[in-house]
Amino acid sequence: MPDELRNRIGAHPARAIPCPHCRAPERAPCTTRTGRTLQTPHPARLDAYDALDTQENAT
Ligand SMILES: [Zn+2]
Repeated sequence: MPDELRNRIGAHPARAIPCPHCRAPERAPCTTRTGRTLQTPHPARLDAYDALDTQENAT
C-alpha cells in the first residue's frame, strides 16, 4: 500500500477535534491510560465530531 494512501486512512477525520475522553489534542491519536495509541478514536470523540459536523450542516 502506498504511504500516501495509508496516511489518509490512518488519520481519522475525528482527529480534527480534541478528544473529550482521553484529552488527546487536535490531530493527535487517542491514547489509553497505559500510553497505548488507538487506531480508532474514542466513541466520545466520534460523537463530538459527529455533533460538530451536524451543526455545521444545519447552518
Ligand atoms: Zn480519546
